[in-house]
Amino acid sequence: MICSRYANLSKIRKGREKYRPGPLPCENGAVNPWLIGAPAIAAAAAGVAAYGGMYPRAQLFGPTLCRTNSPRKLAITFDDGPNPAITPKLLDLLDRYKAPATFFLIGRYIRECPELVSEISTRGHVIGNHTESHPNLFWKGSAEIRVELRLTHSAIKNVLGAPPKWFRPPFGFRNLWLAAEARELNMRVVMWTLLPGDWRAPSAEWLIRRMQPIASRAQRALAHASGTGEILCLHDGSHHEQNADRTRTLAALEHWLPRWRDLGLEFVTIDNAVSAPAP
Ligand SMILES: [Zn+2]
Repeated sequence: MICSRYANLSKIRKGREKYRPGPLPCENGAVNPWLIGAPAIAAAAAGVAAYGGMYPRAQLFGPTLCRTNSPRKLAITFDDGPNPAITPKLLDLLDRYKAPATFFLIGRYIRECPELVSEISTRGHVIGNHTESHPNLFWKGSAEIRVELRLTHSAIKNVLGAPPKWFRPPFGFRNLWLAAEARELNMRVVMWTLLPGDWRAPSAEWLIRRMQPIASRAQRALAHASGTGEILCLHDGSHHEQNADRTRTLAALEHWLPRWRDLGLEFVTIDNAVSAPAP
């Protein structure tokens, strides 16, 4: 499903409330509107652009997938791999809990370790495009975006024999041109509902606490059995360097995977996040 909800512009930086359509209040009616109107409009436009480009659930720059279609379905996703130091251990961990996931890979890393990319796919996981060199696309024009997307598109197709269907923008940043470039390659843009910040986790315990909302929300949502489910964004690699240490991510998953399973959550790839809802 495509998430169509907008965030309240005044609170998007806190990332909480939903946007309720309606006129914006104007408190400057007695003053020449051009004196303050133009800067205000420019500032508002900049704010809206920033919101559309950075807020995970914003749809301003084209539709994004940001939830699964059932509260029972949890889509775990990993960015910035493949990482030879971590990804093989992660694959074993996911196997142990029968947890298919989605890996958004960086093109230059795919070319460094194509066997690992094949292994991810062979073990039942879905592979998506995360650009060639992990730039902030918010500042890029269509030509640069095209190169970033196409290089990784080809790298994945060369290894797997099939192109990816999903794209995740680095840092989650989008702009006006990205949606069209992704659509050209028949890819849909995938965001998330929870980004716990595993790349900066000082300890596994810290990360375990940051991932608590998945269980808390599931307990509430499963009681109603209708609605949508979570897309969790973690990292098995780093766009700065290969062989980055992501052992805290592994430890936090080791903690949560059996607990999520016992809560009744079903682990799904992004392919299955949008297929028929779980009964
Ligand atoms: Zn990334």
